[in-house]
Amino acid sequence: MTKLRAVPRSTSEDLRARVHFCAETGQIWLHEHRMLLVHAEAQATLRKELIDTLGMDRAKGLLTRMGYASGVRDAELARTRAEDSTDLEAFMTGPQLHTLEGIVRVTPIQIELNRHAGTFYAEILWEHSWEGQWHRHHYGIHSEPVCWTQIGYACGYTSAFMGRTILYKEVECTGMGHNNCRIIGKPAEEWDDAAEQMRFFNSESIADQLIDLQTQVVQLRSSIGDRDQSPEQVAGVSPGFRAAHELLQRAAESHITVLLTGETGVGKEVFARSLHDMGARSGKPFIAVNCAAIPAELVESELFGVEKGAYTGALVSRPGRFERADGGTLFLDEIGDLPLSAQAKLLRVLQEGEIERLGDQKTRKVNVRLVAATNVGLQQMVKEGRFRSDLYYRLNAYQIVIPPLRERKQDIPVLAKHFLAKYCAIHGKKLRGFTDKAKRALLGHPWPGNIRELQNTVERGVILAPSGTRIEVGHLFLSSSEVQTQEFVLDSAGGLDINRWETGKDLREAVFNGTLTLDEVEAMLLEAAVDNARGNLSSAARMLGLTRAQIAYRLKRLQEARDSAGNLPPAAFDEMHPGAH
Ligand SMILES: [Zn+2]
Repeated sequence: MTKLRAVPRSTSEDLRARVHFCAETGQIWLHEHRMLLVHAEAQATLRKELIDTLGMDRAKGLLTRMGYASGVRDAELARTRAEDSTDLEAFMTGPQLHTLEGIVRVTPIQIELNRHAGTFYAEILWEHSWEGQWHRHHYGIHSEPVCWTQIGYACGYTSAFMGRTILYKEVECTGMGHNNCRIIGKPAEEWDDAAEQMRFFNSESIADQLIDLQTQVVQLRSSIGDRDQSPEQVAGVSPGFRAAHELLQRAAESHITVLLTGETGVGKEVFARSLHDMGARSGKPFIAVNCAAIPAELVESELFGVEKGAYTGALVSRPGRFERADGGTLFLDEIGDLPLSAQAKLLRVLQEGEIERLGDQKTRKVNVRLVAATNVGLQQMVKEGRFRSDLYYRLNAYQIVIPPLRERKQDIPVLAKHFLAKYCAIHGKKLRGFTDKAKRALLGHPWPGNIRELQNTVERGVILAPSGTRIEVGHLFLSSSEVQTQEFVLDSAGGLDINRWETGKDLREAVFNGTLTLDEVEAMLLEAAVDNARGNLSSAARMLGLTRAQIAYRLKRLQEARDSAGNLPPAAFDEMHPGAH
């Protein structure tokens, strides 16, 4: 055992000689490591920012690990010197380097070590501690030791040198108001609080924590959605909507994987949730994941879960979304954004009904109904090799196309009515519906953002319109360019006024852009003719170049259609004065 009470300084000259300033390359070398000459004050500012951004505890961990890494590097140099000197002389390399690097003046008070036996004890004096001084400058006297980087260095250096974990603690620290810092080092198992000290050597992944928080937000949102859910949200009267909804209802009874396609904002998640609610799994979790919102490198651990130690930063095992959705429904939105490797794993889950967490050997059975959605052409992605064809065919087995809002204009009144009621309740407003001009604008708008855009527009109207009034066009659309100025109006009863189509051009436009259907045009012509003929069907038929039987048949069919469909879209607006009567 080597025991030391005096300090050998002779070897520090030798170390100084190992520092090379290379003017040609602009590099500084110490032994084989590139070094930096940085301003202590700039470094202290970085340290302060770390503390202010991450908090004292997290910054302490980060700085301790940074010091630890430096210590380990310097131990390499010490070990090369150990070959032709005693253990103690070789060990002194670290304290000398720490001094040479300008961090702190290191003076051993007592060192006892035996590398072979693995015994270690050190008591060391630290003078002019860089870290202690700056911490005190920025934060005043602290209740605990503050030389975190330096302690990290001592631990890293000595552990690497000894080949076993050695922990140091400051028993005095300038940051606490002492004149100097004083540290004690011994093997980890000789400290009572080793676990507490070593906590700071484990890096923690902030990304993991963010993902956990995001998951919580999604789950909270889902539960809010549960309460918020009312049948009108998936309601509609248009043929396009009805067709899609019928497919949805049929799928709800089975466990088949469903692919929902449609433009952004058409309500794919609402459809998915509705599918879940209609089926036998309604009492189980509904988990929604937007594949485009998760970074590619995290998506697999998110979906399939991860076992502790699977990768750097995976400190704890946690289940993925598949496991969380067990028994229920997993909704994968924007599935086209899933990386190819994750696609392969997803396909396996669909085929085998079991998942394997990242870094795990065993498989776990999961019973999950998958609903996927996309707003991009998956088939094209398959052609381009960006989406697996086998997965595509598996998903595409039951596809439901949700039409864009511009192709289901008849649903606008229904949806606008729903959103009006919803946002009146949320914002505590009593409104008497929409003005005629506002109704016209809602029907005429092309809605590139689909239902989501309609929802936002109505909410804006609810917020801007004074209580007790009707929402005006100016409350809905910010600029006049957003408003489709079409020359047709609703009459006082909410019906379309045929007399406005003087040239026929506007009528044609209204049909082309979906504001009117051909059936509606025919209905208007029939009714106008009957009105002009004062109810005389024969004379009305002549005006239209039809026989009396033909016009009678068409009127009868019109009446039937109205009875079954309930109403034509503009008329539907008349019923939309929630809480206003
Ligand atoms: Zn200190």
